[in-house]
Amino acid sequence: MRQSGSTNLESVQIQEDVVLAPYTTLRVGGPARFFVEAQSDQQILEALRFARTRGLEVFVLGGGSNLLVSDEGFDGLVLHMTGGELQAFSDGSGGLRVVADAGIEWDAVVRLAVERDAGGIECLAGIPGSVGGTPVQNVGAYGQEIASTLTRVHAVDLAEDRVLNFARGECGFAYRRSRFNTEQAGRYAITQVEYRLELGAKPSLEYRDLSQYLRERGAEHPTLAETADAVRVIRSRKGMVLAEGDADTRSAGSFFKNPAVGADVIWTLAKTAGCPVEQVPQYRAGAEYGAGVVKTSAAWLIELAGFSKGFALGRAGLSSKHVLAITNRGGATAAEIVALRDTVIAGVMERTGIRLEQEPVLLGFPSQNGHSAFR
Ligand SMILES: Cc1cc2nc3c(=O)[nH]c(=O)nc-3n(C[C@H](O)[C@H](O)[C@H](O)COP(=O)(O)OP(=O)(O)OC[C@H]3O[C@@H](n4cnc5c(N)ncnc54)[C@H](O)[C@@H]3O)c2cc1C
Repeated sequence: MRQSGSTNLESVQIQEDVVLAPYTTLRVGGPARFFVEAQSDQQILEALRFARTRGLEVFVLGGGSNLLVSDEGFDGLVLHMTGGELQAFSDGSGGLRVVADAGIEWDAVVRLAVERDAGGIECLAGIPGSVGGTPVQNVGAYGQEIASTLTRVHAVDLAEDRVLNFARGECGFAYRRSRFNTEQAGRYAITQVEYRLELGAKPSLEYRDLSQYLRERGAEHPTLAETADAVRVIRSRKGMVLAEGDADTRSAGSFFKNPAVGADVIWTLAKTAGCPVEQVPQYRAGAEYGAGVVKTSAAWLIELAGFSKGFALGRAGLSSKHVLAITNRGGATAAEIVALRDTVIAGVMERTGIRLEQEPVLLGFPSQNGHSAFR
């Protein structure tokens, strides 16, 4: 960590010029002008007062696994949520109440859940990042998403310097969306999340990849722990579990969201691809998209546009395991990542007329996707 000075406040230490690349899974990005490690509401409020007196923007950082920081860095205060406690209690009505501080690693929650035979998040095993990051984009994988089990978000409102709670219904959850990454992006520092899991639940085997993998291994009735392990193996094969030394995992996960399109577009895509319409991937879109809308696969579109696994521009490349992740092949700059992103978006647009939307949050770029930092 490059660090050129620090200020001690009552409960936190503010550091200066801290390079952010090591705090992100892409390992890209310049310095934060100010940087603070925080855990409690009190520490956040104190850091917030420091930012206010200097007119600084504040950005809340978790595990940095859904984040692209610019080469210039961020001219504000980064509030890094670290550590904390993870607790679980039986709620007396067949549920396990899990209370996790924001800085806890998400996968630790999944491990605890399956150990306690509590279902609802077993398919979310192996997703990098922190607990505090899970409500932000309503993390999801293999047919489960956090919105189904989350019951409460505890947060500090950075606009009004107060602590508050959101019930699930107040979070505005939809596919990869919540109030925390849309209209109120960057406004809250989430300090704790609560989930309700189902004790003794059967694992969710909605995804064919997963059920097939388990069946092939003779697990007709897998436990929650076996299901979570299977998810980890399948994800690892795709470079979707962080692994030191595997450049394919130096990414921000899926770089593009699966686009929602009108059902008629599926026919056009079949024509473009020269394949039967049944071969064009289509999935159920959430109710928020309205009737006649389906999701299709961003990866399929990228391949249709002629990009193959491992396609590279400079030191940025698509994963060699699948085309949906943009990876840092070693020493890539944020500018190289952005150039590859734009090339893929333009290629898909030209071939299919569909504009892919990026998933990771941008920090320190002149025009950001939403307001991830708050003043
Ligand atoms: C290999 C790999 C695989 C992945 N697979 C999946 C997947 O299957 N499904 C999926 O949904 N995602 C996936 N992701 C993306 C990422 O892991 C998740 O979005 C994760 O929840 C991000 O959490 P984080 O703590 O790393 O957030 P960060 O990257 O640190 O931040 C992301 C956003 O969340 C905000 N944020 C983070 N913590 C807080 C907090 N405490 N309070 C308020 N705001 C906060 C930040 O301000 C920022 O806007 C993957 C990423 C990688 C690298």
